[in-house]
Amino acid sequence: MHEYSLACNIIEHVISVAELNNAKAVNTITIGVGKLTLVNPDQILFCLEALTADTIAQGTEFVLLDIFPDMECECGYSGNSEHLLKDSGRYMNDIMAFLEIPCPTCGKIMHELGGRDLVIQSIDIEQ
Ligand SMILES: [Zn+2]
Repeated sequence: MHEYSLACNIIEHVISVAELNNAKAVNTITIGVGKLTLVNPDQILFCLEALTADTIAQGTEFVLLDIFPDMECECGYSGNSEHLLKDSGRYMNDIMAFLEIPCPTCGKIMHELGGRDLVIQSIDIEQ
């Protein structure tokens, strides 16, 4: 399962950071979720919570943030997809919408930079 292996990597990292810092507990873990990861937020949350059971991170709060990729056009234009999608009135959660955002300058279809990763943005520990 895709979500499970991603969650494993995150929790392994969190626990090693917590141990390195002699943490007593982990309060909050903030994770940036790229809009193109195709990850189900409920599933990833379920895996994260299951993996922290009986670890130093048990009971931690997970904060998942949407990360909108930057878009780039061959004409040199670039911009963030969140604004571009809002401006064009497209449905924000439709993954296909990212693949056909037209360039506001020249009208060509742009390509995305990033947005396919799950990134730990911050780990709040108690020492
Ligand atoms: Zn362009």
